[in-house]
Amino acid sequence: AKELGGDNYKFYTHAMREQLGERVQMENALRQALERREFVLYYQPQVDIGSGRIVGMEALIRWQHPEMGMVAPGRFIPLAEETGMILPMGAWVLRSACQQLRTWQSEGHRNLRVAVNVSARQMAEQGFVGSVADVLVEAGLDPTCLELELTESLVMNDVEHAIVVMRQLKKLGVKLAIDDFGTGYSSLAHLKRFTVDVLKIDQAFVRDLTVDPDDAAIVTTIIALAANLNLQVISEGVETLEQLSFLRAHGCSQMQGYYFSRPVPASAFGAVLDENDAR
Ligand code: C2E
Ligand code: CA
Ligand code: CA
Ligand code: CA
Repeated sequence: AKELGGDNYKFYTHAMREQLGERVQMENALRQALERREFVLYYQPQVDIGSGRIVGMEALIRWQHPEMGMVAPGRFIPLAEETGMILPMGAWVLRSACQQLRTWQSEGHRNLRVAVNVSARQMAEQGFVGSVADVLVEAGLDPTCLELELTESLVMNDVEHAIVVMRQLKKLGVKLAIDDFGTGYSSLAHLKRFTVDVLKIDQAFVRDLTVDPDDAAIVTTIIALAANLNLQVISEGVETLEQLSFLRAHGCSQMQGYYFSRPVPASAFGAVLDENDAR
């Protein structure tokens, strides 16, 4: 049978079908992943350079698929956002991270906070603030020990709504951070209205910090901005001593990155905390 466009067309639909099949497969697998307990949280330390101590950790989701192996969040978070599966997934992340920190605290590890990534869909959901409050009570966790990381694009999605939700979250007592700061589209006028506690410098600016004067300028400006607005600042993606030294010299004392540790499973993080307490 002669189809429109001949072989090219057939090839095209075949490729499309394959892609679609892959997507549907991924979607189905993702749908089952929660029930099958295939998600795990890894934790990456956040270090205060002044004291040399771990002050917190960021919870980062991993998908341990029986056939695909370890799937990085970059490969499934966008699909989870699109399909709405980010809602049950995000709820699971929040609950697990809070319970895990509570466990570490009851084991004697004090003065720690846990940072949890929040997606736009979660933030837009009715009852998000209530669910955060419930999780905190259920876990028995002090609200000030929870830091929610919001991206600029998430907040800019619906600025007015985001500002309302941020105020409610602040009333609960949780800490708020702007993730990937400087990469999004929020203006300084908006920042003034955001009730955030922390600016998190994106690793894209940190990477070439010591060789690219533009990146160096951006980073020092963000640090100065945070200081002037009375906000804390933390750098992500710190991989080298040179980056660390630059950041410290310019007044950024909290850092996160491979230089200190890669994200590790909770079981391994316990040992990291033991070491930290011995310091
Ligand atoms: P993010 O929030 O910016 O997280 C930081 C990412 O940088 C993590 O990638 C982390 O493993 C990686 N990283 C940490 N230190 C270094 C370093 O020194 N060098 C380099 N090159 N990379 C470093 P990961 O775990 O693959 O997560 C990717 C993104 O997926 C996250 O970016 C976040 O946007 C999203 N994500 C992860 N977990 C969750 C989650 O539970 N919920 C939501 N909504 N998003 C999540
Ligand atoms: Ca983050
Ligand atoms: Ca980032
Ligand atoms: Ca991010």
